[in-house]
Amino acid sequence: MAYLQSMPKSETIRIREKHVGAACQLFFRSSPLKIVRGIAQYMYDETGERYLDCINNVAHVGHCHPHVVEAGRNQMSLISTNNRYLHDELVILAERLVKTLPEPLSVCFFVNSGSEANDLALRLARIHTKNKDVITLDHAYHGHLTSMIDVSPYKFNLPGGPEKPEWVHVAPVPDVYRGKYVYPNDSVNEEELGKLYANEVGKICKESKSKNGGVCAFIAESLQSCGGQIIPPEGYFKEVYQHVREADGVCIADEVQVGFGRVGTHMWAFETQDVIPDIVTMGKPMGNGHPVAAVITTPEIAKSFADTGVEYFNTYGGNPVSCAIANAVLDVIEEERLMERAHRVGNHLLSRCEQLKHKHSLVGDVRGKGLFVGVELVTDRETRTPATAEAKHVVNRMREEKILISRDGPDSNVLKFKPPMVFSTQDADRLVDTLDRVLAELDGTRTSIKLQVLVTPLEETNDASISASVQQSIKSM
Ligand code: PMP
Repeated sequence: MAYLQSMPKSETIRIREKHVGAACQLFFRSSPLKIVRGIAQYMYDETGERYLDCINNVAHVGHCHPHVVEAGRNQMSLISTNNRYLHDELVILAERLVKTLPEPLSVCFFVNSGSEANDLALRLARIHTKNKDVITLDHAYHGHLTSMIDVSPYKFNLPGGPEKPEWVHVAPVPDVYRGKYVYPNDSVNEEELGKLYANEVGKICKESKSKNGGVCAFIAESLQSCGGQIIPPEGYFKEVYQHVREADGVCIADEVQVGFGRVGTHMWAFETQDVIPDIVTMGKPMGNGHPVAAVITTPEIAKSFADTGVEYFNTYGGNPVSCAIANAVLDVIEEERLMERAHRVGNHLLSRCEQLKHKHSLVGDVRGKGLFVGVELVTDRETRTPATAEAKHVVNRMREEKILISRDGPDSNVLKFKPPMVFSTQDADRLVDTLDRVLAELDGTRTSIKLQVLVTPLEETNDASISASVQQSIKSM
């Protein structure tokens, strides 16, 4: 069944190319998808074709969940105003979120996006510590605002990216598969690896303390997603937080991607490392697609901010509609026991992906927690050389099989799975069975595939021929 659309796909593309900034890139650029409807873990294009969505961690409780839609619709029909008026949805949301967090994280600020949340977190850290030096991890991404690009090597390290400011210090990402210190390694165990990586942050802290009087903040995702689905070694954050606090800095946990129960065992991914941050930022899944985000901190840090006497006003942050939606998302997480589900289905997905490692030499590493899983492809397991072209091919082939996955990491060779939390074991089986087939196609034909992919990139084409190739692909649909 095709769905009612206001214009044909070719026209959508034509107008987009004419009036939308080219820096806003599409998935599958040479043959983009036009998605017109979603339900649970599925998305539908304009022809009615159904895709299994394995990457949309924003549609946390499932695309267009009726309870969330209803909450938004109801509140829209009543009032949407700003947080200078009292409203129950806002205070209920604040109280519910705080209940999920360890003490002393108890003061909320509501904003509209992950970028805004991290920007405010940095502002709080600056005001509280009066220091300037910020430590970030290599390949990290924390948002699109100017202040966030400054602390996002994922962006500023790109060829056309801006220069890294002198107050930003980049520590190695604790990637125990292809990072500075790797595992397995005869001389160290996992905990020692955590220490080695944490010492890298410690060195920066000591230098900052002696040169500039101290650190402002350490900001990191609790599990690095944009950097390639990285699971830090045990004990890493505990050591890091100690170093940062000894240098008078605050610790910011970016939970924008990995929060709200995705890891299965805990509501917040930092809890898997048994640490308590000074500031937590959250967004994406919080509104299931509606823009709502938050910063939660300690009374002490919030007081430093209030003591400046400068009002914090955010026109849309904490509006009743956003808060009603976020409350509805929390309802669904609880009522449908989605955290437990992430644990159960995630373990199944992870173990099925592990099996692929025994079948396909391309699969170098499989890692994950809950419904946050990465499969790293390498051309050689000894050298751990990234299989970038192969990963690109796999993403495109999976799309042909109506399964949407993506790839990430500094070499774009890590297949990334972070589906809506309503993902089932059957979905996991379909994903892995199909991936198994696609990888089997690649076994033995790697050289020719590599050449073909490099010559005609489907997923990423950024040249003037887009229009023509898109028209071509539409004709063939
Ligand atoms: N932090 C992380 C870890 C993210 O992945 C993102 C978005 N990809 C952001 C912050 C920024 O969020 P937003 O796009 O909602 O501004």
